[in-house]
Amino acid sequence: MATTGDSNRAVGLRVREMRKWLRLSQGEVAEHLNLQRAAISSIENGKRSLAVSELLQICRLFHCEPNVLLKQNTETKDLSLLPSFHTRMTREDTIDGQDQKEIERFHSDLIQNMKDKDAEVASYISDKQFPVPDEEASTIREKLNIKTGSIEVLSVMIKLGIQVRFSSLGQLSGALIRIYKPNTQLGVIVNSDQPDDRVRFSLAHELAHIILGHKSEKSNITSSIKGRRFNPIERDADTFAAELLMPESELINISKKFMEDGLLSELEIFQLSQKFAVSFKAMLVRLSELKIISRSQYNAFSSLKPTEIEKQTLESQSSIKKIAFDKSSIETIANTLRESQFYLNKTTSPEWVRLLQERVWEKYITTIPASERATDVKEVYETVAFWIAENDPI
Ligand SMILES: [Zn+2]
Repeated sequence: MATTGDSNRAVGLRVREMRKWLRLSQGEVAEHLNLQRAAISSIENGKRSLAVSELLQICRLFHCEPNVLLKQNTETKDLSLLPSFHTRMTREDTIDGQDQKEIERFHSDLIQNMKDKDAEVASYISDKQFPVPDEEASTIREKLNIKTGSIEVLSVMIKLGIQVRFSSLGQLSGALIRIYKPNTQLGVIVNSDQPDDRVRFSLAHELAHIILGHKSEKSNITSSIKGRRFNPIERDADTFAAELLMPESELINISKKFMEDGLLSELEIFQLSQKFAVSFKAMLVRLSELKIISRSQYNAFSSLKPTEIEKQTLESQSSIKKIAFDKSSIETIANTLRESQFYLNKTTSPEWVRLLQERVWEKYITTIPASERATDVKEVYETVAFWIAENDPI
């Protein structure tokens, strides 16, 4: 036995933590080990000890040395580091340990990977003392020459030199990290467990804090979902994000065309949401705020299930061709990362798995528009983890 007695529970917890961090389900780990899913559950709960062969197989999948799972990590965490702005998904007042760890990891990567000049975005930051959020959002669209339809927020951020990290976070939906010395470096960490349109909104929201030149204050750090609605800075960031993703003038024009035959139908609203790559719900809220639909229409449509409307659309049109992610991209990206001096010390740790997962996902979503993607984030992460276990053992 690799583990005995009291330590089973501690080992089990570390297995669970690592598995979740790499976004693998108990079922997939079980498959890799030729075990039933229930056995993995027992291992994680400390009810079953790991055989040596099982431990080695898990380590292969997690890309780590056995002692990472067997020994208590005594490293102390610096909890003083806090992001400038972050948006929570729950009302808790503190960031949980896991999210804090992810932020610290990202922060230290940003420092190590420092560019030798200020991020491009510096020239896009509003110089007004009281910037109007929706005006600033239209200005960005104009400056970047995005005339119509959905905006690929991620590509915009990369273009502006903002580093974006996709992470599996708990309570946070997004956070902004700034480093001022020796240059201005900006990083946004975003929770990739959220639905895709939510990820885009979070990115646009954090971009707003940058463009609108918001200074971080203690009060922002403690803003919860409830507080968010009453915090002018957070409200401005949401307004900016909504205008960036769904510009008012364009929505009015398109809606006018649709409305020649009366009110907007649920199908037309659904088509609008597809055009701008936002959720049906987000489009409803936006149309209602802009008074393009009435309160009673909003209420009536709110109870509709987008999946049902989608079915109708698919029946009425020829279905859109979906593109799966290209598995051969894993090797190409792995090779590029291996060549980079910066990542040399990571390729023998679980961080290597995470790094490759994130980069492969980033590549996929920056090349294929949201509406054409056939593979979800979970499947990409799984495929990368198994690819490493098979092709790149330590
Ligand atoms: Zn915010």
